Parts: sequence; structure tokens; C-alpha cells
Amino acid sequence: MKNVGFIGWRGIVGSVLMDRMVEENDFNQIHSIFFSTSQYGNAAPTYGGHKGILQNANDINALTDLDIIISCQGMNYTNHIYHKLRILGWNGYWIDSSSALRMKNDAIIILDPVNQQQIQDGLNKGIKTFVGGNCTVSLMLLSLGGLFVNNLIEWASVATYQAVSGAGSRNIRELLVQMGDLHMQVAKELKDPNSKILDIEKKITNFSRSGRMLTDSFNVPLASSLIPWIDKDLENGQSYEEWKYQTETNKILDTGNNIIPIDALCVRVGALRCHSQAFTLKLKKEISLNEIEQLLISHNEWVKIIPNNYQRTIKELTPSAVNGKLIIPVGRLRKLNMGSKYLSAFTVGDQLLWGAAEPLRRMLNILL
Ligand code: NAP
Repeated sequence: MKNVGFIGWRGIVGSVLMDRMVEENDFNQIHSIFFSTSQYGNAAPTYGGHKGILQNANDINALTDLDIIISCQGMNYTNHIYHKLRILGWNGYWIDSSSALRMKNDAIIILDPVNQQQIQDGLNKGIKTFVGGNCTVSLMLLSLGGLFVNNLIEWASVATYQAVSGAGSRNIRELLVQMGDLHMQVAKELKDPNSKILDIEKKITNFSRSGRMLTDSFNVPLASSLIPWIDKDLENGQSYEEWKYQTETNKILDTGNNIIPIDALCVRVGALRCHSQAFTLKLKKEISLNEIEQLLISHNEWVKIIPNNYQRTIKELTPSAVNGKLIIPVGRLRKLNMGSKYLSAFTVGDQLLWGAAEPLRRMLNILL
């Protein structure tokens, strides 16, 4: 059995990974060893059915004994440890959820329903580093895979509606505290059906501008608002999150010099777990909506077409309908006024599953 080390298993992505591995009985196939940067010495979790002690995630010698390392710990940890391990000659497989190594030439971005062949070719060539993609990029490629892999997309413009879970567990708590605080401001008025709605709105607006809301993580209120900027400022007008769309997509699709132009406007909203994305696509050729739907559903088993009508859309194409599920609904499919090669689409996906943990779990299984 391979020795597989888990770092970052306590975090939000790591916890989802653990749940999925338990569901799929993945621990039966490996000898699992759990690490922590802060809790080492304490009892390790018993996911694999064995009792043990948490190892020190910064102990390079303990890491060199591993055949496979899965890190969901974050970029700083990867930057701190990965190169040291490789310099020491460690030749195991490193599977990572952070973006630290994604664009390295000798690393493959893993999304096997889309780039299984690239992963297999990489393994045959001796590639040892495999990195999960950005959550929105992975969800876009799974939902629109049928169009991308058939080389039908001339360009894509994306507007995102990204959940708080993408920013980590503290941010989820902050949003919920904000929601509760807002409600408390007007709880009395809401009980009175004759209270004036504009007075309620004014109280909420004044409170959210008062500086009294908890904003330690997001810096500004998110509840009753949104934040149209995610991640670092690249100082070219783009955020780092937006930059990843074109760069990572083209790396995953291995488009070489035939880059597919993709740009995005990434927005944080008050959804909890699922990211949503609205696409404007220019297709390379005219193709009917029927054919488009067939291509999309035949690409992978998780895509589900939601007919473009009000009832199905509000019931099946929302974050609350999709939280915790592996299916990736795609809807609002229609040709746009700009012409028959212009298509709109909307997708929702659980960003902790396909956007983070699931590709790592699947990569482990490919290795095994
Ligand atoms: P996280 O929840 O902040 O957890 C990271 C680490 O924080 C844990 O492994 C744990 O490490 C430590 N920690 C400290 N206090 C904790 C507590 N009370 N509960 C649990 N853990 C605690 O990080 P994350 O959001 O899962 O992200 C991990 C990596 O995945 C990042 O690189 C991120 O960019 C990437 N990623 C995240 C998402 C997402 O949706 N959040 C999506 C895709 C990729 P120790 O045991 O060593 O203390």
C-alpha cells in the first residue's frame, strides 16, 4: 500500500476531501498519515480506520517517507515545503489544492473529465506534480466542456457570482454574523406589517455604513451587498482571479499557440458554497441549441441541462439547489441578439467539490 500523507485535512477543502474519500472508500486502498502545522502530537483522525498521532507538517524528514502527498494547506505552506523536498531528492507525487505550483511547466492542472489524456501523458513522461485548478475555471470547463473540447468557442466573457466559501471558513462565519446583525436592526419593524419599507431599508443601509458590522475578513459588508473584486490586484485592471480564466483554461486544454481568449469580471456574493457563472460565448460556427445541449451532456456525466424556463431555472439553477452535489447544472442557454453565433449560458457548481476537493481525490485514484 502506498504511504499517502495528508496536509491541510482540517481546513474547509481538506474536510470536504475527507468526506468524499470516506464516501468512496478511498482510505481502504492506502496507508494514510495525517499531518498538521499546529496540532502535531495530538491524535490523528481515524478516517483510514487506524489510530495514530498527527505528524508535524514542517518535518521534512517525515515527509520524505511518503509516496504521495496531498496538500490542502495553502500557498504559503507549498511555497515553504515543496522546493525543499524536491531539493532533497524526494521523488514522490505531490497533489495540491493551492495555486502555488499551477503554472509550473512540470506541473499539470488536474481536471480529469477534461484533460485525462494530458494527465496520462504527463505520468508517462514522469511528471510528479499535480495541482487542482481554480474553482471557477474547473466549473466552467466541466459545464461547457462539450463546447471547449470540440474547439467551438472563439472567445468567452464571464461574469461570476462567487460564494463566500471560496474565501475560507472565517469568511463564511462573517457573512452569517452580518446577516444576523442586519436582521436584528429591523426585527421589530419586520414584525409590524404596517411599518414603512423605506424606513427599514434606510436603517439597514445606515447600519451597513456605520462601521459597526463585523468586516475583519472582507473589509466591507457583504450581506445586503456584493464585492466586485476577488483576490490580488494585478495593476493592469484585472484581479488575479480574473487572470486565471484564460491562463489556466488554455493550460488545461493544452491549446499551445491557439489561445482561446477568455476574460471575466469576478464578483463575491452572499452565496455560501456554490459559485455561479454567466457566460457570453462567441462560437466558431453556427450550431443549433439542440446540438449544443447534446454536446454538453455527452461530455461528462455530471452536466445537467436545465431548460430555459422560469420554473426549472429558479428551482434547479441556484446555489441552494446545488450545494453539496456533484452535478453541474447549465441553463439559460439561448442565442443572443448579437447574432446566431452568440450564446448565453449560466452554470452553478459546488466549488468545494468540483472546484477544489474532487479533482484531488480523483487524481489520487488515478495514481493508485
Ligand atoms: P482553511 O480552511 O483556512 O484551512 C487551512 C489550514 O488552516 C488547516 O489545514 C489547518 O492547518 C489550519 N487551521 C487553523 N485553524 C483551523 C480551524 N479552526 N479549523 C480548521 N483548520 C484550521 O483553508 P481552505 O479554505 O481549505 O484552503 C486551503 C487551500 O485550498 C488554499 O490554498 C486555497 O487557496 C485552496 N482552495 C480553496 C478553495 C476554497 O473554496 N476555500 C477552493 C480551491 C482551492 P493545521 O492543521 O496545520 O493547523
